[in-house]
Amino acid sequence: MNLLRRLLGSPDGEDDLATARSVADGHPLSEAVRLAPEPPPAALPCPSCAVLLSPPPVGDRRCPRCRQPIIVRRLEGRTVLLNEAAVEVFKAERRRAAEERVQSAARQRWLRLAHKVNASPNRCAKLAAAPVSSDAVAASRALYLAAVERAVKAARHDGRWGDIGRIRREQARALYEEAGAPVSPPDDIAGLHRDGMVAVLRSLQPLAREVELVSAKCCPTCRNEDGQTFRIADEVRLHRLPHAGCPLGLCGCDWWPAMAEPKRARARRRARISRVAGSSSADAGPDSWAAAS
Ligand SMILES: [Zn+2]
Ligand SMILES: [Zn+2]
Repeated sequence: MNLLRRLLGSPDGEDDLATARSVADGHPLSEAVRLAPEPPPAALPCPSCAVLLSPPPVGDRRCPRCRQPIIVRRLEGRTVLLNEAAVEVFKAERRRAAEERVQSAARQRWLRLAHKVNASPNRCAKLAAAPVSSDAVAASRALYLAAVERAVKAARHDGRWGDIGRIRREQARALYEEAGAPVSPPDDIAGLHRDGMVAVLRSLQPLAREVELVSAKCCPTCRNEDGQTFRIADEVRLHRLPHAGCPLGLCGCDWWPAMAEPKRARARRRARISRVAGSSSADAGPDSWAAAS
């Protein structure tokens, strides 16, 4: 059993005493610890000689009887007394527990993404149930990335460009965060985001010839082009987004269709403006606009 679990699993003072005796009798290292349940007990045994220390020490010190060092640590809100031999094991197991938490979160993240791109639910479930390890994280990541490629291929076959835009940008975001979110994103990651933005442009092609840049307004570079319109035919080659030099790495700027005003509406508006401009300045208020429409 792992030392940390053993420390936390120790149910009561009697067990502590039994453990203390076994250590005093030369039992294994992982036994050489004492656990104080909450609230703090009136006494805890020395991890080396098992003499009851009342009150238990609150800081590192030597045992008044055996003179061996007692190291006081906290574990999930409880006081733990360790001897010198146990303290290295304690540290190593704490490190391992922290590492496992990180790995577990990473696996969960990849599997959640994999689920969104229709990875096999069976494989997702199997990986989620496996003991957490760096291999389990790597396998979950690989499952996601393979599912992305399948999903993109299927979407391209069906001409679902909007889906490709979403999938590629999400993939770029996940890999970017995995890389530690550097200020300038690695080329391959920026490339995935760019592919996503090109797919967004293609998805807008049936709606409009021009697109409006909707800025995330995160920085001057991105704000500069906010609201500007560009030809889709040019932009699929220019790869303007994500903006290079944005401190967010992958900016949130997006394309919206720039809706051309229908011809008849434009003509009516022109006519109205010229009528208003032609009339006397006194008439050229909101009332005359209303009358003209
Ligand atoms: Zn931007
Ligand atoms: Zn920006």
